[in-house]
Amino acid sequence: MPLEALFPENIIMQQNPEMKVADLICDGEWVIPESLLDLFEPSELPVLDGKGDRKIWTEFSVDSAYELRGIVPADDKMKKIKFQLASRCPFCKNSEENLEHILWFCDFSEIIRNWLGGIFSFTNPISFEDILLLAQNKSPAVKEIWKVAALVTLKEIWFMRNRMVYEEEAYKCEALKKRIISFTKESEVRMSSAMWNSAYSLQILKTFELKCRRVKTVKVTEIFFYLHDPSYFLICCDGSSRGNPGAAGHGFIYRKWNGVFEIVVSGGLGTTSNFLAEIFAVICAGEWAVNQYLLRIYFRSDSQPVISAFQTGKIPWWVITRWNKIKSGLQEWYFVHSYREMNTSADLLDKKGVVLAKGERRIYKQCSNFITRLENPDFPYYRFS
Ligand SMILES: [Zn+2]
Repeated sequence: MPLEALFPENIIMQQNPEMKVADLICDGEWVIPESLLDLFEPSELPVLDGKGDRKIWTEFSVDSAYELRGIVPADDKMKKIKFQLASRCPFCKNSEENLEHILWFCDFSEIIRNWLGGIFSFTNPISFEDILLLAQNKSPAVKEIWKVAALVTLKEIWFMRNRMVYEEEAYKCEALKKRIISFTKESEVRMSSAMWNSAYSLQILKTFELKCRRVKTVKVTEIFFYLHDPSYFLICCDGSSRGNPGAAGHGFIYRKWNGVFEIVVSGGLGTTSNFLAEIFAVICAGEWAVNQYLLRIYFRSDSQPVISAFQTGKIPWWVITRWNKIKSGLQEWYFVHSYREMNTSADLLDKKGVVLAKGERRIYKQCSNFITRLENPDFPYYRFS
């Protein structure tokens, strides 16, 4: 439809009936007369790239679902540009029509969203952010199906609205559900994530008539934390970096033979790699032990490469002297590997260290919050692999 027919009262339209988009561009920039700015927002203009004219069309996909807002103006947008329309929601007919109402608040769309949430045993999503968060802890396959199905649902609710408004189609709940299932199934070619072999995942695949996926099995192993011989002192060490390399920290906890913790240290290391942060954690723990005149030490680390580096003497050259000094201060020392799942206390500390400045150190002698993170020999830990 020509713009002139859409906006007959606009003075610019009256004076320039033949106006083209190119007339609004000068030296590669948009030049918009003020009275035209009532018709749209400057932010809605596409960025000029000087590549010549072309038709702009957005294909619907999961990623472009956010662009739903632009497909057809809901009544609120039409009203802004001075159209006189009765703006009633075509579904419930008792609320004002706008995109938020139709997608998230209308009783009719809620029935559809409840039905979809029911398939996945989720609560009813009430925003795009909810959709992205709800499947967080599910298998990769379920996450993928959920995102596709939820966004297809929003698209189909909106298209249903368009058909009701422009083609006078009646609202048919069951037909809408069928369309959602069939469009989700059509996206199968683009979905490839692995599933877990659970009744939950299988039921979802069956509902959407999707084929079974490659199964990712999870092996759960029960592991225990042991306290060592009373004549040894146990130091749990850990280092980590945010990014590799990135801001890094280390931490260690010294525990007596009966498990009571004596001291907790966390420190910042500046920017370094994960491996070096783990090396530093052992060095700092060792230096501290020597200063305390402790003679027999178990170093506990969750990094097998770091333990091997110390055991074979293949540690970075710039810590060799420090490590030799530590060794000469100790009578006996051993390394014990601990699974990450069981290195909970030191792991918490290096995370605290990451936010400290290089060389900055925090020492805790009593820390009640921390007690809950101490590894306990009386309970099993679980490792998922
Ligand atoms: Zn409504």
